[in-house]
Amino acid sequence: MGHILTLNAGSSSLKFALLALGNEPEELLSGQLEGLGTKPRLVAKTKTGETPVDRRWSEGEGPKDHATALAALWELLEREFPAVDIVAVGHRVVHGGPRFSEPLIVEAAEIDALREYVPLAPLHQPHNLAGIDAARAALPRARQVACFDTAFHRSHPWINDVYALPRRYYEAGVRRYGFHGLSYEYVVSTLASTRPALLQGRLVVAHLGNGASMCAIHGGKPVASTLGFSALDGLPMGTRCGQLDPGIILYMLQAEGLDAKAIQDVLYKESGLKGLSGLSNDMRTLEESDTPEALGAIAYFCARIRRELGGLAAAMGGIDGVVFTGGIGENSRRVRALACADLDFLGIRLDPDANAANAAEIGAADACCPVLVVNTNEEAMIARHTARLIG
Ligand code: AMP
Repeated sequence: MGHILTLNAGSSSLKFALLALGNEPEELLSGQLEGLGTKPRLVAKTKTGETPVDRRWSEGEGPKDHATALAALWELLEREFPAVDIVAVGHRVVHGGPRFSEPLIVEAAEIDALREYVPLAPLHQPHNLAGIDAARAALPRARQVACFDTAFHRSHPWINDVYALPRRYYEAGVRRYGFHGLSYEYVVSTLASTRPALLQGRLVVAHLGNGASMCAIHGGKPVASTLGFSALDGLPMGTRCGQLDPGIILYMLQAEGLDAKAIQDVLYKESGLKGLSGLSNDMRTLEESDTPEALGAIAYFCARIRRELGGLAAAMGGIDGVVFTGGIGENSRRVRALACADLDFLGIRLDPDANAANAAEIGAADACCPVLVVNTNEEAMIARHTARLIG
């Protein structure tokens, strides 16, 4: 039947999943290689929860880049699945620019086109493309499929796609791209089978993980996202700032004399939950702490979710359902409770027992707006697109 490999290449990591082709691709193994170039570690788990490998290399040894990471991964796959036959590799690619609103099979010309979007996502796109280059070299007979985080959002109405800048910026690609599109697509596809009637209504989906955003979805189609041109807007994230007054960037430039790189570091690496708490970017760590700063960071995160929820509901003229997903959305009962507090006016109220149990439906029985928890699976979405495209 053949197999699909999904790859998500980051600056120092390579996440992967191996799936068997079939009507619905079936996951056999997933894991990641992290610490590339420093202290690499390769961990994988099977669908039955076994860990066939948990290998650590010492400082400066082992895989250093995506090409050597793929070689280590290949060694593992051949050992665990001697008959492995990868017919296609599905890549998570952060940016499809204004042009690509669907996943696509990529060859040299398409890869060159995607390189043009490096300035739109300088911290992610080069690594995603390095993953494609490595896979083309290692598996020359396999088809390479790019699946974009931006693609799902390309059908937003113009009003939710544009910034009030001189028009030339829009033409040059300065648009509200939104991200986490593969996660939203997965949630939509799940609801299409579990709650088709609800999917016809107006939903706000909150993808709350290390990166976080929310998306208004009406009749299964995206309407607006809290993320915009870059992966910085909207909600605060693990280390990213979320919505800012652009005047703050001018202040950093003019009053503090910071250069572009220093500002980038503040906005992407030192802000968000980490910046506010002074403790950690990790929600679990913050929930275990009782410092006022950690409590304040959680309170700010949840207050922003409530504000964005109100704004997205207004963008659709109402709200018929809320969905939580992502590592925090799926697991943190405290964040869900705080994020939904005082939203009775929108018909949103949680059932505390269902919320505490991480149930699939956590809204109070007598509240008119259902609140759901859906476990997202971006790898499955990439595999489905890849399987469909290779026929
Ligand atoms: P993701 O990027 O989707 O993998 O999500 C990572 C985030 O989910 C981190 O901030 C984790 O602390 C958070 N997370 C994972 N499990 C839990 C949990 N049981 N309770 C609270 N937060 C969690």
